[in-house]
Amino acid sequence: MVNSIETRLKTGVVLGDGGYLIELERRGYVDSGSGREKVGTGKGSGQFTPEVAIEHPDALRELHREFLAAGSHVLQALTFFATREKLTRAGYGAQTEAINQAAVRIAKEVAGNQALVAGSVSRTQLFEREGPAAAGHARDLFDEQIRLLKEAGVDCLILETFFRLDEMLIALDCAARSGLAVVATMSFRPMITKCSDDHTPAECARAMAEHGACAVGANCEQEPLRMLPLLRAMRSAVNLPLAAQPAGFRTTDACHCFTRQAAFPDDLETIQVSRREFFDFGKLASAEGIGYIGGCCGCNAAYIRALAHGLSEAK
Ligand SMILES: [Zn+2]
Repeated sequence: MVNSIETRLKTGVVLGDGGYLIELERRGYVDSGSGREKVGTGKGSGQFTPEVAIEHPDALRELHREFLAAGSHVLQALTFFATREKLTRAGYGAQTEAINQAAVRIAKEVAGNQALVAGSVSRTQLFEREGPAAAGHARDLFDEQIRLLKEAGVDCLILETFFRLDEMLIALDCAARSGLAVVATMSFRPMITKCSDDHTPAECARAMAEHGACAVGANCEQEPLRMLPLLRAMRSAVNLPLAAQPAGFRTTDACHCFTRQAAFPDDLETIQVSRREFFDFGKLASAEGIGYIGGCCGCNAAYIRALAHGLSEAK
């Protein structure tokens, strides 16, 4: 049996997996919502929900298999955006239990005794839509989803793609009550200098560490080289391993996030970063204090193989 995430982090760099929703959208199994509304406005619009777990389980199973074959030590159950409220907005609220349970079951089937399975918990989008008054509702949603994930048998949690630190800390409190180990990563947009409620990367790292995460860092929105300075700022603030899951899309000096580029979501191929940048990032990981490394949106198995090669080359 594989060791716990906390044990793995003590013994070397843990290789995560890539981005599921964008890849499954490209394969025709996930709805971006772009046909109905302007996605990427920052107001909690856009669908990108994980009903693929119950509607096309074979497609999800295959993508897990590809990441495992690429060398992933951890598979994330596709439970991103699977709180009851977000699923309700997408028309799947009544399937909240079924989607979370199916996603974990499929990931565990593929992982077997070769990889850990992490439950993915992401922002609710309620803070963007309703402001900080949404805190109580968000807490209830996190409590429910984390309970479902624990009952379904995840090995640990990855809290990811939180734009606001206040919402992340609520999720971390809920996760702490579950007793599961937690990797926590913020996402920074439009620039890497501050999160949406005005905390620097260093402040975010310290707060996430104080709230019990076993690794802290960033995911999504930037390509590896753009993310690196914010990871260094976090590293200077904490004594924990960093977690990094950059996106596979090129950002600009004027806008450090891909979800606010004109190419999002229907022209992303025009800003795709090559896997070579992930190979180079893998080579850097250990020296940069990165203990958990993977990819986010735009990263299929080729990117995870490139990270694996980079990690082995650094040895
Ligand atoms: Zn992403």
